Amino acid sequence: GPALLFVKTSQGKEEGRRFYACSACRDRKDCNFFQWEDEKVSETRLAAREEYNRNHQPSFTHRQNMDRYKNFILLPLSKRRFCQECQQLLLPAEWEKHSDHQFLCDITTAQLKSPSQLLYPLENKKTNAQYLFADRSCQFLLNLLLDLGFRRVLSVGTPRLHEMIQSKASQEEFNVRSLLLDIDFRYSQFYTEDEFCHYNMFNHHFFGGEAAHETCRKFLYEENGERVIMVTDPPFGGLVEALASSFKKLMAMWRETEKGGHENKEMPMFWIFPYFFESRILDFFPSFSMMDYQVDYDNHALYKHGKTGRRQSPVRIFTNLAPSMIVLPEEEGYRFCTVCQRYVSSGNQHCEICNSCTSKDGRRWKHCILCKKCVKPSWFHCNNCNCCTLQKHSCEKTDLGCFVCGKAGHKRSACPSLSCT
Ligand code: SAH
Ligand code: ZN
Ligand code: ZN
Ligand code: ZN
Ligand code: ZN
Repeated sequence: GPALLFVKTSQGKEEGRRFYACSACRDRKDCNFFQWEDEKVSETRLAAREEYNRNHQPSFTHRQNMDRYKNFILLPLSKRRFCQECQQLLLPAEWEKHSDHQFLCDITTAQLKSPSQLLYPLENKKTNAQYLFADRSCQFLLNLLLDLGFRRVLSVGTPRLHEMIQSKASQEEFNVRSLLLDIDFRYSQFYTEDEFCHYNMFNHHFFGGEAAHETCRKFLYEENGERVIMVTDPPFGGLVEALASSFKKLMAMWRETEKGGHENKEMPMFWIFPYFFESRILDFFPSFSMMDYQVDYDNHALYKHGKTGRRQSPVRIFTNLAPSMIVLPEEEGYRFCTVCQRYVSSGNQHCEICNSCTSKDGRRWKHCILCKKCVKPSWFHCNNCNCCTLQKHSCEKTDLGCFVCGKAGHKRSACPSLSCT
């Protein structure tokens, strides 16, 4: 899909130079597309690019993958193989071609229903950064949105939530539906075109063109009063601005499905993201608020729950629903603050001066009279900088703001909000 327009700023110059780069890959090693905004691209280079794109298409289309799936489930267990190297279900005629690849045998129906367990998470790639919900968190999210009365879930980059809904729906009487939008095309082997759209959330691009757009539009149309909510868990390295722009387009799609009824409303949404992006998210979505619930992941050693894992997860739920409606599990220590009218984590104390439960990371924060706000317990007030900060810091500041928190004095890589100190 379309590239994003970035700007390179260099010191001393007022205006930077603008260039296009890949929206999905933050690592030039994954995609080296680069073009100055004012650059003239020669016919030869254009042709070379098209050639490159042709050679890098997936080996099967979504439609083809569906036909293959239909054949695959007809096979006896002994003939159901999955190539781990190619991350692909194999039909017997293809075994030969993959003979020196590692494969799994006897793929059960249960395994086909949990593709996120079968496929390996693309976590090393900066592009996908696939961190899968721990079962506890996934179950919590699903129960929460059921309790809130939603019957349709637009799962944007949440394959595990989608999978939980799909497999429940196929078992018992469970009338919730989910549509997965994700850039990971491997999922097209397991879901129909009504269940999965190949989608890029950094530029709102549907790879399946108008037909996929229409699938999404139809899904968002709330027939028989079935309310829809969007749940998204984007890669944390992603640009908030690009994500917000796509999410607004999805919200607009929802709004336009029912003329009149939705005019002044927002599509309900859960945006799962680290707490230190709070101000960035609120910049784009002022109606959102951050919940205290800590979202845990299976394959992320750092992002495990405080009680059972090694460290506290910094990942939270941002939502445009009323915070008082988001009930957090008391057995995990969350309690309801009657003043704030929302559930907060056990360590989050209500500050009488701020008149709110101010902790962002679950630990008890302390109020600084000089800063007139609550700060992290490990911070102290520096009279030089005239604000609270880490004990160890240099009082000199650079002009450029940090890309993550927007504050001056450090670069993105050294941002104090990124470390759980
Ligand atoms: N916790 C979620 C997974 C979140 S990981 C779960 O368990 O369901 C981030 C997800 O976003 C991955 O599924 C990844 O494939 C997807 N993703 C990464 N970049 C994307 C992009 N540009 N557009 C759409 N989806 C993307
Ligand atoms: Zn193979
Ligand atoms: Zn409170
Ligand atoms: Zn305070
Ligand atoms: Zn202070």
